[in-house]
Amino acid sequence: VRTVNLRNDEEEGMGDLDTSWVPGFVEPLRVKPGSKVTLAKDFDPAERFGVAKKKDGVQLLRRGVQLLAEYQDRLAAQGTCAVLVVLQGIDAAGKDSTIRHVMSGVNPQGVHVSSFKVPAGEELEHDYLWRHVRRLPARGEIGIFNRSHYEEVAVVRVHPENLAREKIPPVPDDIWKRRYREINDWERYLDGNGIRVVKLFLNVSKEEQRIRFLKRIDRPEKNWKFSAADVRERRFWDDYQHAYSQMLTHTGTEWAPWHVVPADHKWFARICAAAVIARTLIEIDPQYPVPDEAARRELLRARAELEAEVPPQA
Ligand code: AMP
Ligand code: MG
Repeated sequence: VRTVNLRNDEEEGMGDLDTSWVPGFVEPLRVKPGSKVTLAKDFDPAERFGVAKKKDGVQLLRRGVQLLAEYQDRLAAQGTCAVLVVLQGIDAAGKDSTIRHVMSGVNPQGVHVSSFKVPAGEELEHDYLWRHVRRLPARGEIGIFNRSHYEEVAVVRVHPENLAREKIPPVPDDIWKRRYREINDWERYLDGNGIRVVKLFLNVSKEEQRIRFLKRIDRPEKNWKFSAADVRERRFWDDYQHAYSQMLTHTGTEWAPWHVVPADHKWFARICAAAVIARTLIEIDPQYPVPDEAARRELLRARAELEAEVPPQA
């Protein structure tokens, strides 16, 4: 009996893919569950872990992009787990360009990006997690939240007047504590049901944000990215830092840990983001399904039928 020649890791080059560099980029970014985070004190936005120059980073990013492409193919083929990437960060932290670069190698069919703006219309007729539930990735998919349910404890915490628009019943004094708990519970449920939650906070400095805003004003092709509201929000810098520090402290869990990505050097942030997502995929270790005996016989029959066909020109 001839055996059907099925794809295996060796042929796909999986054996050659170097994953050894990945953990070194992930561990230092991870917020230890239960630890208290003060952003300004605990994380340096300009950190580069010894990778001095952008040109040294290019090779690493290429490797990361390749890893993601290979693993995503297996994730889709296996169809058991999903990955939800949660991307947070203040204006001009680099969320859009991180997505563009890190996902540049993956099959677009298997990735869905959802951007969350100020909730409106139907969204305000529902509980705050509703619009996020609707955007969850299906099994085998990678979903990316460009901003996320964490805005509900970030911008909404900085500007609590947003709560009034949300039409929730009388707001309790411990609203933020309660929301952290609700978010943790929801993410635990997702993790338990095969949806791995990967959380990235792009940590940019105040000075770097200023420089990026100026670029958005000075370069015509970047004008569309700028709004006067962005500079108004910048005045609340310290409040945002506090809200984000609280968020990292209270929602960094074993099942869905936060990663604080140094974001002053965009090229470095991309390597870190790729590494964190790759790390999760490596842990999932999805496998191509192996056909059982019946399916294998079916394949052999199909092959015999195709081989028996005589090409018209022969
Ligand atoms: P951008 O990411 O530049 O397109 O801007 C989206 C805007 O929507 C940001 O100013 C966010 O703060 C805001 N936003 C996103 N989610 C929420 C939310 N749940 N409540 C209030 N504002 C939000
Ligand atoms: Mg913006």
